[in-house]
Amino acid sequence: MKRILTGVAAVLALVAFGAKAEPFKVAITVDDLPAHGSPVPGHSREEVARDYLAALKAHKVPGVYGFINAVALEREPGTKAVLKLWRDAGYPLGNHTYTHMNINTGGLTAFEGDIEKNEPVLKELMAGQDWRVLRFPFLNAGTDPALHKGIMDYLATKGYRIADVTISFNDWAYTETYNRCLTKGDAATIDAMKVQYMQGVKASIARSTYGSQKLYGRQISHVLLIHEGAFTALMLPQVLSEFEAEGATFVSLDEAQGDPVYSAVSAHRGEGLLIERQAREKGADIWAGAPADVDIANLDTLCR
Ligand SMILES: [Zn+2]
Repeated sequence: MKRILTGVAAVLALVAFGAKAEPFKVAITVDDLPAHGSPVPGHSREEVARDYLAALKAHKVPGVYGFINAVALEREPGTKAVLKLWRDAGYPLGNHTYTHMNINTGGLTAFEGDIEKNEPVLKELMAGQDWRVLRFPFLNAGTDPALHKGIMDYLATKGYRIADVTISFNDWAYTETYNRCLTKGDAATIDAMKVQYMQGVKASIARSTYGSQKLYGRQISHVLLIHEGAFTALMLPQVLSEFEAEGATFVSLDEAQGDPVYSAVSAHRGEGLLIERQAREKGADIWAGAPADVDIANLDTLCR
């Protein structure tokens, strides 16, 4: 009996010192389908999508929403195949606006038009299923309060819900750097990027779980935002393994959004990271003592 108690105490001590991850749920969502960033040297959009889906399936990740910008079907004919692959994998599609518009610069009327221009493809590929889920491009939901209220009223009328985000590791910042390094054939820099990328993954998990504990006193169901780029496709098997090692269970967006934090009153729903936003709204400082984030400023200078 004494030995068992000692064992329990040891486990509790490990948890207290953060040596063992606390379990949490996370939904994975993928933005900018079917064509994130510039065309990838030596890799087709379909190839990127197949790699992506293979990793998600290998880790049995359920209900992964792909948020689409259908303008890509005009710019890169043939990319509709990517959206079909996503659907064939049993995953849903949602709205990320037609041209990836920033509501702050586009304004309300143009932004609504951009949402609607994206809908025919969603209707066609999601026949009979719920595609009325919006991810705001740049996680900008209208800085001006009147603009934000305008879009919220519009979305409510149209029956849309919003896909808020709680974890992001700035994977988008690697996209063009990777393309440049592929063009140059700079394998050493790509290897260094992989190391930095995984440091960012670990830091973002640590920060978001830290912030959740501090703000809510528990682990909320998280939502991860990643982009359908070639570098994230390359790293995704490691990323998913890292999440599992940190205590994550993969759930669908629908299940994650069943957590009451997603329906709590918020003056700027859809804006930025949910935990940071709700902390601001409560006047809480949740980042004191938090694990440091990884600086990505160097990425813009690499492989020039
Ligand atoms: Zn996007």
